[in-house]
Amino acid sequence: MSAREALKSHQRVVVKVGTTTLTYPNGRLNLRRIEEICTVLSDLCNQGKEMILVTSGAIAVGADRLGLTERPRDVVGKQAASAVGQAMLMQIYQRFFSRYNQEIAQILLTKDVIENEVSKQNARNTLKALREMRVIPLVNENDSVSTDELGFSENDTLSAYVSILSDSELLINLSDTDGMYDADPKQNPGAKVFREIPAITREIEELAGGSSSKLGSGGMISKITAAKLVTERGIDMVIASGEDPAIIWRLLAGEPEGTLFIKKSGGNVWIPSN
Ligand code: GLU
Repeated sequence: MSAREALKSHQRVVVKVGTTTLTYPNGRLNLRRIEEICTVLSDLCNQGKEMILVTSGAIAVGADRLGLTERPRDVVGKQAASAVGQAMLMQIYQRFFSRYNQEIAQILLTKDVIENEVSKQNARNTLKALREMRVIPLVNENDSVSTDELGFSENDTLSAYVSILSDSELLINLSDTDGMYDADPKQNPGAKVFREIPAITREIEELAGGSSSKLGSGGMISKITAAKLVTERGIDMVIASGEDPAIIWRLLAGEPEGTLFIKKSGGNVWIPSN
């Protein structure tokens, strides 16, 4: 069975959506897209799959709600905006998910929760209990108490840890790129997207903007870091465009979209600790 075919059988899936997928360039919520995400996730739950959504957007939504003309740059400004925005974001999700009678839950994590064995186990237990009740957890960083220096600062790494904590089989990272390219597609029209990456080599890291950036494509390096974290623990990861949330259905049908980072098999497979 090909690695793409194998995606069809994955039951426990984490979907990560970034702020650019959830908002328009003017900072306001893209309600249509959010509704589509809720429809796809509810439908997949109805199929019996166990879905988790890692969602950004708290700071952007809060800034918009507070009438700020741009995203705050200072720490306390971001913390305050996220406190307003997170509540708003959940309210919107709740409204759309309730159309399908799909229960959701909010989990806000910080880096120290993941680093501490006791709190990590608590997060793991909560995710497990929610899964058993067929509730979709909506996870974000607890931006109202975290800082850029001490926090994850982006949700790519957070989504990798959530995939590991929940013993998931697949992480789908939806963003504004439809995968990883062999050159910067904005500057090089002939750039080709990788459909499958069987191993994250030094070349792949450098291409993504690692030690000596060839592309300088901002967010790709944190996605590669996330891919490394999960694939080493036996979890597949796909980077795909969030423009059309129906892509989640297509990926789970084994269609060759986005870039698939194939999990490592053998010795490094993730062994749940409970
Ligand atoms: N946690 C941040 C938020 O909800 C976003 C982090 C990210 O953009 O990845 O606004």
